[in-house]
Amino acid sequence: MSKTHYQYDVIVIGAGHAGTEAALTSARMGAKTALLTMNCDTIGQLSCNPAIGGVAKGQIVREIDALGGEMGKLIDATGIQFRMLNSGKGPAMWSPRAQADKKAYQFLMKLRVEEQENLTIRQEMVESLIIEGTPVPEGAPQPEPEDCPRITGVLVRGGAEYRAQAVIITTGTFLQAIMHTGEAKTKGGRAGEGTTGTMSDSFRELGFQLERFKTGTPARLNGRTIDYSQLEIQPGDENPQPFSFMTEKIEQEQIPCWLTATNQHVHDVIKANLHRAPMYSGQISSTGPRYCPSVEDKVVRFADKSSHQIFLEPEGRNTLEIYCNGISTSLPRDVQDEMVRSIAGLENAEIMRYGYAVEYDFAPPTQLFATLETKRVGGLYFAGQINGTTGYEEAAGQGLIAGVNAVLKIANKEPFILDRSQAYLGVLIDDLVTKGVDEPYRMFTSRAEYRLLLRQDNADRRLTPIGQQLGLADAERCAQFQQYETQIQTALTLLAKLRHQGNSLEEWLRRPEIEWPQLCEFSSELANVEMSERAKQQVQIEVKYSGYVKRQQQDIERQKKSLSLRIPVTFDYRAVPQLRNEAKDKFSRVKPADIAQAGRISGITPADLAILTLYLHEPG
Ligand code: FAD
Repeated sequence: MSKTHYQYDVIVIGAGHAGTEAALTSARMGAKTALLTMNCDTIGQLSCNPAIGGVAKGQIVREIDALGGEMGKLIDATGIQFRMLNSGKGPAMWSPRAQADKKAYQFLMKLRVEEQENLTIRQEMVESLIIEGTPVPEGAPQPEPEDCPRITGVLVRGGAEYRAQAVIITTGTFLQAIMHTGEAKTKGGRAGEGTTGTMSDSFRELGFQLERFKTGTPARLNGRTIDYSQLEIQPGDENPQPFSFMTEKIEQEQIPCWLTATNQHVHDVIKANLHRAPMYSGQISSTGPRYCPSVEDKVVRFADKSSHQIFLEPEGRNTLEIYCNGISTSLPRDVQDEMVRSIAGLENAEIMRYGYAVEYDFAPPTQLFATLETKRVGGLYFAGQINGTTGYEEAAGQGLIAGVNAVLKIANKEPFILDRSQAYLGVLIDDLVTKGVDEPYRMFTSRAEYRLLLRQDNADRRLTPIGQQLGLADAERCAQFQQYETQIQTALTLLAKLRHQGNSLEEWLRRPEIEWPQLCEFSSELANVEMSERAKQQVQIEVKYSGYVKRQQQDIERQKKSLSLRIPVTFDYRAVPQLRNEAKDKFSRVKPADIAQAGRISGITPADLAILTLYLHEPG
């Protein structure tokens, strides 16, 4: 019997946050794309907390938006509460965060992928990969890309084949997934859903190494059964700031969140039942996110604390369901009931969904190039939680980068790699592919050495021109950006030219106490310039922080200079005693023109580059 075949340019497996951005990106760049997912009703689902953004993650959302991605627009349209975190600190720390109406967010993403030209969405369970060439066995040395097998498609349950030159895997927490609530174990990547075991087998057959991580989620409550009079209210910002550079204003009404806390009795209940917690009974041995611990973990690790804060977050406008942020747990149901009922305001609360932990396979990301293409199989890309990350934003960002690179690869174009000084997305991917992960990876501002440059406010100035070159940023975005940039340049020129009491307005603006309205009092010419509020704010940040920014730019220049260090064609790598034999072989064969090219050779480590650079400066 002949098999059903479908032919596409790019296939994306999984329609979570990585998959949807990857598929939209690929289709928008003109590739005929298929998005295959286990269940069309869960496209864009927020598996855990109904919120987008937060510290460092908010910056990522703005970067995705600046490049032409979807996440920022979706949360602007479906957010129920918006807050700019760290607004009391310097602008490099400002981070937008918003509660989403969970279902509205998911349905809007479903609509966006449905509306997208060049994109076919199909409910399919993908079971294995189809390749051309001989797989490289696990543990065998990494061959050169031209000697690796190549992806040609995937096989789905029921036997149909989808063929393409590039395949992007974004299967999230679903590979060999097991959920735990106390002693109870169920197969599945998310409550109420299934798992996929055959995909893991298929990866292993191709020589990929897989490891296991775990993550967890708290109980959800019925809001009707909560006593709000005992809780502290947490309203949104008075002047909510959008995520997307294309959203003028957040128009919708905001809903408050609520605060409560655990207490000594809750901690005693948890301690008395630790032997029943899968993390402590030995039922789970894989690593979870250290910075996002379960409540049982918090009680053990911070034994001197008698209380931990809990944010009660509404899951939407048309539901009473409440997410209990801060008490993620996999304790048994009876313990969760007792725990919840011992918390102020929750004495009569009914749990609608119990908390659980999920263990799943991930593929250590050192098996990837910085394009997110795998080193073992040409044309095969991994993005999202499968790479050992956690978080919607980290997943979405990887999806976009994988989508771009898949399309560039099949068009035989240069790959797209963001530098660490250009974007948090550059930091994220560089960390993943060079350092790997030993716990679920989430972004922090501290991971970015150039964080003064990588602000949420300037993501469009850093990335929209790149989005335009890639064909991702649409005409409306590009026109709006051009107008904004012109306003900024006009203002900067005027500030340098106009004077007040002997000093330029630029010098005045550098003073901490001087803001835009005062400058306008100093000069009617400036006051009459047509400028958006956002452009004014950008100019102020630019001028006030120019000293720090300049210093970081000089650091980057210095680093770039070392990367452009030329290597003579006749250079004898074998004469560098400290170099590893593998590095000597590869350098001798490739004969890189400069250090930057040397660094792109597969298998070359930062240490090899450091030795080579030193030797070029000081031979012998
Ligand atoms: P997902 O959003 O998981 O999407 C995977 C997609 O792949 C789904 O659409 C699925 O149907 C599809 N799929 C899987 N296998 C196949 C197949 N074989 N064929 C076809 N389709 C397939 N993040 C945090 O930041 N903080 C947290 O506290 C947190 N807790 C979490 C708790 C739980 C219980 C879970 C499940 C997740 C949690 N996360 C948390 C992680 C967050 O949900 C993920 O980081 C994010 O959703 C990853 O996005 P993704 O696109 O990689 O995968």
